[in-house]
Amino acid sequence: MKIAKIEQYRPKHRTRLVRITTDSGISGWGETTLEGKPKSTWAAVEELSEYLIGQDPLRIEHHWQHIYRSAFFRGGNVLMSALAGIDQALWDISGKFYGVPSYKLMGNATRDKIRTYAHWGINDLSESGLEKSRERLDWLQKSGYTAYKSGPAGKWRAHEPPARIDEFVKAAYLMREWVGDDVDLYFDFHAKMTPALAIEVCNEIKGMRPGFVEEPVPQENKDALKLVSQSVPFPIATGERLLSRWEFREIFESNSVAIIQPDVAHCGGMSELRRIASMAEVYYIHSAPHCAIGPVAFSSCLQVDACTPNFFIQEQVDAGLGNGLLQEDWVVKDGYIDLPTKPGLGIDIDEDAACRNVESHEPELGGDNWFHEDGSVADW
Ligand SMILES: [Mg+2]
Repeated sequence: MKIAKIEQYRPKHRTRLVRITTDSGISGWGETTLEGKPKSTWAAVEELSEYLIGQDPLRIEHHWQHIYRSAFFRGGNVLMSALAGIDQALWDISGKFYGVPSYKLMGNATRDKIRTYAHWGINDLSESGLEKSRERLDWLQKSGYTAYKSGPAGKWRAHEPPARIDEFVKAAYLMREWVGDDVDLYFDFHAKMTPALAIEVCNEIKGMRPGFVEEPVPQENKDALKLVSQSVPFPIATGERLLSRWEFREIFESNSVAIIQPDVAHCGGMSELRRIASMAEVYYIHSAPHCAIGPVAFSSCLQVDACTPNFFIQEQVDAGLGNGLLQEDWVVKDGYIDLPTKPGLGIDIDEDAACRNVESHEPELGGDNWFHEDGSVADW
């Protein structure tokens, strides 16, 4: 069996898909959506296609090594996202070729169902804001969720006055009051804070017992992350912007976080997500894969979650369950998704919806809104 054709699609804003088809007619799907640089990733897939056409699609590790190492320059979010989409598509093909879900080729299931969380929070304490928030919580609870994540909205400077901090803290305690003590609540600081501010805010919310705080500070400096971890009495998470085992190494060796969040569409794919999680196991660190894009990436995460012993919980942003691109959506029951049973990534793509290219005029790079009052750049 040989790779015969590689096609790419952009069926929605912030959704880039790759389909690899073999000469025996098996097709595999991957998601390469890279926030901020989708055209670059598209071009990278085109360049890598020159090598892949004519190759045996089942030699996943060999192709991964060649794409990562043989071009001399390694890593970076464009190459790693392109490689990630290709890796997912090859795992999809392999599963379909052998007639099993991909996780059965990666050591088989280490659990019976996969825990997942949705995005929900209180960001606006006005009457109408609270009402909107309550409506979404009701809908998510009816949909089967028992764990939620939100974060402090807007832009944060090096420090903020008490009123700004207290607004977030009040919302956090109110969230706990609404959902009760049996529910997991997480917060994503989106790397918007300095270590000092993050530590202060974490200390203010510790009484409502968050499950973790994600990216309290940017990911580049493990010492800053460690400072926060050591100053806070609950788990700190990071990793959605770290690519490959090599970028996670220092985080592990310094024990800077309790939970890692590699992104299957950026870290180098399902192969690399599984290997990063294995490295983490040595440090008693658990994996809660990031997934803020569509259903192909989400389905790829589920495959790895199924076979990863130190898996903790899977992120989901509504779009992951199907978003009009799957023939059958994933279903959440009592906080969990059943183990996939269909071959490959466990999904049937709705080709009428997926195999098209839509024009989008929405900005890819975070919009115009990410400047402080004085005109300087803010972190989004
Ligand atoms: Mg995040």
